[in-house]
Amino acid sequence: MGKLELRIYPDPVLRGKATPVKDIDDSIRKLMADMAETMYISEGVGLAAPQVGSLSQLITVDIGKGLISLANPRIVESDGSEVMEEGCLSLPDIRLEVKRYKRVLVQGIDSNGKEVFIEAEDLLARVFQHEIDHLQGILIIDKIPSAQRQLIRSKLKELERKVQR
Ligand code: ZN
Repeated sequence: MGKLELRIYPDPVLRGKATPVKDIDDSIRKLMADMAETMYISEGVGLAAPQVGSLSQLITVDIGKGLISLANPRIVESDGSEVMEEGCLSLPDIRLEVKRYKRVLVQGIDSNGKEVFIEAEDLLARVFQHEIDHLQGILIIDKIPSAQRQLIRSKLKELERKVQR
């Protein structure tokens, strides 16, 4: 296992669309394990493969109730809505109120290659939606009204400047 480099906004890989994983082989299992380690070291509750530079449809989630690693996750059912503050490991120092479904049913493939369905609500549902968004190149800064986007503009500019240095 090993910690991977976290990609920070405005790294273009965060805007890429991840492709489905065909085979859960040893290299994918290793990537899943390394993603989990990176998530724990970074004290995140979720991580998507683009955040470590891989455009594969892989996510890891742990809200303190055990590790869930999934390939090709998708939301097959959703219900309700809830606004909560969210952060993102790829957007340091930015926290935003994001509206999401309150409950979701997620379908995916686990590290054994088995198809699984996971019912999630509240924080777990939120983290799944956040990570699945990453696989489409969608970030929390895309999920807020433009008036709010003005407020974080200087923080985004600051992150953009760090890359140019
Ligand atoms: Zn994120």
